[in-house]
Amino acid sequence: MSDAPESGFSLELGEDLARTREWLHEFAASVIRPAGAEWDEREETPWPVLEEAAKIGLYSLDFYTQQYLEPSGLGIPVVFEELFWGDAGIGMSLAGSTLAALSVAANGTPEQVGEWCPQMFGGPGDVKLGAFCSSEPEAGSDVSAIRTRAVYDAAAGEWVLNGVKTWATNGGIAEVHVVVASVDPSLGSRGQASFVVPPGTPGLSMGQKFRKHGIRASHTAEVVLSDVRIPERCVLGGRDRLEERLARVKESGHAGGQAAMRTFEASRPGVAAMAVGIARAAAEYAAEYATRRVQFGRPIGQNQAVAFMLADMAAAVDAARLLTWRAAWMARQGRPFRRAEGSMSKLVAGETAVRVTEQAIQILGGNGYTREYPVERWHRDAKIFTIFEGTSEIQRMLIGRTITGLDVR
Ligand SMILES: Cc1cc2nc3c(=O)[nH]c(=O)nc-3n(C[C@H](O)[C@H](O)[C@H](O)COP(=O)(O)OP(=O)(O)OC[C@H]3O[C@@H](n4cnc5c(N)ncnc54)[C@H](O)[C@@H]3O)c2cc1C
Repeated sequence: MSDAPESGFSLELGEDLARTREWLHEFAASVIRPAGAEWDEREETPWPVLEEAAKIGLYSLDFYTQQYLEPSGLGIPVVFEELFWGDAGIGMSLAGSTLAALSVAANGTPEQVGEWCPQMFGGPGDVKLGAFCSSEPEAGSDVSAIRTRAVYDAAAGEWVLNGVKTWATNGGIAEVHVVVASVDPSLGSRGQASFVVPPGTPGLSMGQKFRKHGIRASHTAEVVLSDVRIPERCVLGGRDRLEERLARVKESGHAGGQAAMRTFEASRPGVAAMAVGIARAAAEYAAEYATRRVQFGRPIGQNQAVAFMLADMAAAVDAARLLTWRAAWMARQGRPFRRAEGSMSKLVAGETAVRVTEQAIQILGGNGYTREYPVERWHRDAKIFTIFEGTSEIQRMLIGRTITGLDVR
């Protein structure tokens, strides 16, 4: 990111960002958290909450762009931590479009960003969503196995997409879908490109909607692409650049990175911050509970076994946040992740969220195991963070490769 200003790493948030955090915390505490249980049960996109967030300027392309461009790089981590502290299912509905927008920003031209990103958010009274569709039934961790084909019909000046995408957040209900497809299957992942499918394009339909373990207020579904015809300009980066890239790959055997991987690299610290938000919610909730719940004539928190668990939880949350902020700061300064720092943040934050939410259930005892209390939901929600955007195993593989230089498989 050459336009990024150089800024020293600091744990002190700037005044604007500190104020933004307070504002978001207020919204998370008063609107998101109270709605969490209801939308988890309903397993539906919480449109009324999105509306409220749009009304105050939170669910908007402008707000997210401002946070992505925040000079310290900590804008997005701070925003996502607060939203997911409120509730992760609703948080994912509020954040899901950003992954699609990020893929356009990472791979598209300025004109494409200007045309498509605003349509992924809409505005107050007319809220919209974006969806990023990379995963397929046979291509999860292995992005190179993507079978969805994009064929250029020169006579019509159109791309024709065919295939089945799965696990797409907002898939089928989004205004704009970004689809990763293979243009030249003989080149594997190097032969892939990302395409925007404009609103209302015939041939794109929703397949199965998944009923999930957690983040149930976030819609996840298959997206079926059947002879989907889109204008030439819908390939991200433009057709000329794509043709040049494919020619370079054929000539030299390598060129640039994979379209899907570029999106994931850019989004990893943000995803880590979401997990930090859940973990912090659980650690705070359990600490508060442990001071109130009395057994054997004293608060359970006075037992070293419980206090040590709370200590581990608090330390783990802070450690995860530090890795997350470091990665986000490095990304904003345009520093390369030489030690896979982005993957480190996602790995540690995701596993921290699972562990800390489980410990929170333990501290709440029977109450923790019921739906009367939020920690069982947070535990279910946390689990996705070791699976999507690269599983924990894939993060370890990437870190392992980076620090050893070996072709770890
Ligand atoms: C709720 C939800 C939302 C999602 N949202 C999106 C979205 O918006 N867009 C999108 O494109 N995708 C999305 N995904 C897909 C997600 O990114 C994939 O589920 C994830 O990449 C894992 O792929 P998979 O499920 O096919 O698992 P697999 O790749 O089949 O992995 C299964 C297991 O094998 C392990 N494994 C696989 N390969 C290796 C290896 N080489 N070494 C070691 N272990 C390995 C994995 O770590 C895992 O434990 C979402 C998924 C879910 C569940």
